[in-house]
Amino acid sequence: MSKPEAPSSLDAYFRSQDPSALHANQALARLQQESLSPVPQNFELWFAYYAKTNLDVVHALDTLSTAQLPITDGLCEDIHQRFLSEAKNNETVRETGARIQATLTGVSNRVDAARAATHQYKEALQTAASQLSGPGENEQIRSTLRTVLDNTSDMLAHNQQLEDALAQSSLVMQALERDLEAVRKQSLTDGLTALANRKAFDAEIARLSQKAQADGQGYCMVMMDIDHFKVFNDTYGHQVGDDVLRLVGRTLGQAVRSGDMAARYGGEEFAILLPNTRLSVALQLANALRATMESMSLTRRKSGDKLGRITLSGGVAEVAPGEAPDSVVARSDAALYLAKSRGRNRIEVHSGGQ
Ligand code: GH3
Ligand code: MG
Ligand code: MG
Repeated sequence: MSKPEAPSSLDAYFRSQDPSALHANQALARLQQESLSPVPQNFELWFAYYAKTNLDVVHALDTLSTAQLPITDGLCEDIHQRFLSEAKNNETVRETGARIQATLTGVSNRVDAARAATHQYKEALQTAASQLSGPGENEQIRSTLRTVLDNTSDMLAHNQQLEDALAQSSLVMQALERDLEAVRKQSLTDGLTALANRKAFDAEIARLSQKAQADGQGYCMVMMDIDHFKVFNDTYGHQVGDDVLRLVGRTLGQAVRSGDMAARYGGEEFAILLPNTRLSVALQLANALRATMESMSLTRRKSGDKLGRITLSGGVAEVAPGEAPDSVVARSDAALYLAKSRGRNRIEVHSGGQ
């Protein structure tokens, strides 16, 4: 059988019978069909869908299609984050764990070898001591001392080896620790805005709720959503939309104090957690952010074209004694919904209890 000829161009590649080429084609066609941004992340997601390499991805995207929901960049990013980036992170953590294990096993083998050598040395010394204590010739004493010296050199060599191995292992462990820390940070960060992601938000609000229970120090939550963002995307395109998300992210990130958390909750929604903060102060902050966004006149970076303004609506709630995180989120959301229904570009407070 003759070898198939290498495709002479990209075109030929996409027409080839290779299943990967077929899946790549299907993925590209789907990006176009759904008006999704042609970015590597979206391509990877839809490639995984058609190649069925990740059944969670297949299931999540099928669910969207079945529900006839519009498939947006934001939704794709969420699914990518949940099932592909997470999986990669988990894989890295697993690999790093295996490397730590191997390093520790290496160290422990060396320690065992050193222990055995020390034991031998002790026996040699005991033999020498008993020989020296008996009656003997000079020659015998010299020979015994030579043996002791040889044994001592062996011991020193062994100890040196052990020290080198430990120093080497400690360097490896430091590098692994840095890798793990980078993965941990990455798994809690939103790729688009560099704010905390949903996972980090969920963990932080759970922590704050527990703390509120334990020591009575409450917190406030602000939920913010970009107004009429769909129209903005449809008018200027998703790439410009993504730039706006980055801008909102930067603005929120700069406005909060250390100890607060600004997070991308999902799509075009942002959440802020303000520990130990009164409702009136949280409302002020949310309003200041709303006013800052409203005052910015956006221009397209490449052409300098004016893009008008974007506005934010927001809902604020303060945790009630013993209230669960889900309920705080639901009440912030309800206040946000009220702000939308009352005309947008405004902040409402959910002042009632749970
Ligand atoms: P409302 O004022 O009621 O919030 O209207 P809206 O159009 O902002 O709300 P809707 O929920 O109808 O649409 C949200 C839009 O946000 C749709 C989607 O295209 C856009 N979006 C979500 N995530 C992303 C993203 O990651 N990038 C871009 N460019 N757009 C996104
Ligand atoms: Mg929304
Ligand atoms: Mg919106």
